[in-house]
Amino acid sequence: MGHVFDKLKKEEIEELEKLSQDYVNFLSEVKTERESVEFFKGALIGAGFKEGDLEKGFFVYRNKFLACWRMGQKPLQKGLKLIVSHIDAPRLDLKLHPLFEKIELVFLKTHYYGGIKKYHWVAMPLSLHGVVVRKDGSLVKIVLGEREEEPLFTICDLLPHLSRKKQEDKKLSEAILAENLNILAGGIPLEKDKKGKGEKEERVKKRILKLLEEKYGIKEEDFSSGELFAVPAGRARFVGFDSAFIGGYGQDDRICAYTSFRALLDIEKPKFPVLVLFMDREEIGSEGNTSAKSRIFESLIYELIKKATLSPTPDNFFEIMTKTKALSADVTAGIDPNYIEVHDELNDAKVGYGVVISRYTGHGGKYLANEAHAEYVSYLRNLFEREGVIYQVASMGKVDEGGGGTVSKYFASYGMDIVDIGPPLLSMHSPFEIVHKADLYMTYRAFKSFLKE
Ligand code: MN
Ligand code: MN
Repeated sequence: MGHVFDKLKKEEIEELEKLSQDYVNFLSEVKTERESVEFFKGALIGAGFKEGDLEKGFFVYRNKFLACWRMGQKPLQKGLKLIVSHIDAPRLDLKLHPLFEKIELVFLKTHYYGGIKKYHWVAMPLSLHGVVVRKDGSLVKIVLGEREEEPLFTICDLLPHLSRKKQEDKKLSEAILAENLNILAGGIPLEKDKKGKGEKEERVKKRILKLLEEKYGIKEEDFSSGELFAVPAGRARFVGFDSAFIGGYGQDDRICAYTSFRALLDIEKPKFPVLVLFMDREEIGSEGNTSAKSRIFESLIYELIKKATLSPTPDNFFEIMTKTKALSADVTAGIDPNYIEVHDELNDAKVGYGVVISRYTGHGGKYLANEAHAEYVSYLRNLFEREGVIYQVASMGKVDEGGGGTVSKYFASYGMDIVDIGPPLLSMHSPFEIVHKADLYMTYRAFKSFLKE
């Protein structure tokens, strides 16, 4: 197939550069599922979409799942063009009772979310993003550590001088323990009173609690009804002398969320009704009521059926589902030349070679994976070649080397055709994931051609 940059026309390169810059801004601003929903909702309203409207509408569930759609030239009964991505990403969640003080240092305890390599998260700048809902139900949004004038956070690592036995001699997965991923969060004690009372009482923690009360109106016990995440602080950036790449946190899978969203906004009246979904909880196996395993998708389709004045019966539902063509928009691994031994060079995805169709994921023996039918892959190859989309059909890693899962199997269970598709990343699931901007662009082009046809 060849490198994308060997095939681009001048105006395509301009479009690619523009998209890349917009995407860098998006990645820099949006770091959680709630922030994704807020961003997309705002942009939808700006583009004339209305909540619950049949023609150009959207639906939000629990502030973490968003669906948006446009009706097509053909009626709903002919099936949908569906793209589903996920807007959650690996991170460190604050525990329910996170604050503790030891030797005049205050820390926040964490419980990691999704598949992380723990050593990635120490000795780097972190910011806090999320919400706290007070006992009276009022919600306070917190984003701290992104702006230069704000303080940020970090998890301290052990110095090399003292870590020989504790870390260097251990297995990588055991060198840094989850229970040690405690965020440094304060170090100035509250003043003692005149009689010297309070000498032995966690005065640093008390002062932090006072600051939290003043700044956010929250008390220590309010953390138990909070969702605060530590994520890598700072902006996404171009990478390399030639700015070939974009580096940033949360590209799995916000790159697919962003490109599918842009594709939806950039199409004229599509042939079929189109539906673009942004799901939550993919990184922990799609559990919970905002995930792909919940029946919220099903309920949404019944709503659309009713809005289209069809009768909301299972046979209407399944007629639409079995005629639906879907893309599970998610990233895959690009071949990393430094770790060539885990890849099958003939079958794995090459960075810069365009969007990747992954027919199946899963573990050795295709375990627990959806595999797209030959006919459906042929349909997509035909479409992409007609539309000038540069793509590759690839797998992820050598057989038995490992594997992964996506949401496609949950949607396949409704009877629709679905396949995983997205750009190849380097450093996937790290705090600084890398994508080639050619692959970003071809992912957008693939989604756009899929939605409009
Ligand atoms: Mn993913
Ligand atoms: Mn992932």
